[in-house]
Amino acid sequence: MESSDVSYASEKLMQLKSEYHVEVIADWGMGSDGHWHRGTWSKEELDRLHRAIGLLASIMKGANHFVENLGGVRVVKEDIGPHGGQAQAHLVKFNSRTAFSAWTVVHEFAHAWDANFGWNLSVALEKYTGGYTRPWLSWFKKLIGLSDSKFFKHENKPGKRGRKPGCNAAGYFYGDKPSGSNWRFNRLEDFAESVAMYIGWARSNDLSNWAEARIKRYVLEDGAGDKNFGTDYWKYYSKFFYPDRGDYTKTKRWKFVEELVKGRIKIP
Ligand SMILES: [Zn+2]
Repeated sequence: MESSDVSYASEKLMQLKSEYHVEVIADWGMGSDGHWHRGTWSKEELDRLHRAIGLLASIMKGANHFVENLGGVRVVKEDIGPHGGQAQAHLVKFNSRTAFSAWTVVHEFAHAWDANFGWNLSVALEKYTGGYTRPWLSWFKKLIGLSDSKFFKHENKPGKRGRKPGCNAAGYFYGDKPSGSNWRFNRLEDFAESVAMYIGWARSNDLSNWAEARIKRYVLEDGAGDKNFGTDYWKYYSKFFYPDRGDYTKTKRWKFVEELVKGRIKIP
């Protein structure tokens, strides 16, 4: 943050607090040495955060429901290693090493929402989409060579990243068609990605291009390179991920989020 933006930033922080009960912990300011400390936040990131929270609040039909669902969230930037973000109930962390995207904001706040409901929203998603988490079955699938990964880990090469149902560290057999999967996929990640896909899909907001790109990659040929997602056997994987006629609103995940925000899902 530049010192010239300090009043703009303070205003934004107050807005986030009053509208959404989101408290950004500022890492910028005047130091005791009399020098300005820029910290790791940029003005653009504050705007991006505010807009992305607005998108999440809008599917919940307003800021008051966002506050009810999330129950207040502190936001900090920290060096959290290889990940873009991390979340638990009432706390979201972004990596101080990089700038975050609008997608990451929605993804992490979706985790915080799930966490505030005892991680039961993702349990409901798993059930609704016909998935299940069975590590033993997953080991068995890997053992008999049905997995697109190695036994204990994935490999960073096409067709070996552990994208098939159950072929991940969690033994998560996703049901229906998520927009993607990898070795770290589990119902928690599934929920967060499903919320982001729902917000972005077929609209024109900060998440829309990415949502479209996540589906479009499956029309590529096997072994083709995608500028965002690298090289993989896209056509082969399309049977797991490409929705009916490429329309993501036809998926159970889209319908789940739609029903959830309309209050029609029973939370276990
Ligand atoms: Zn996540």
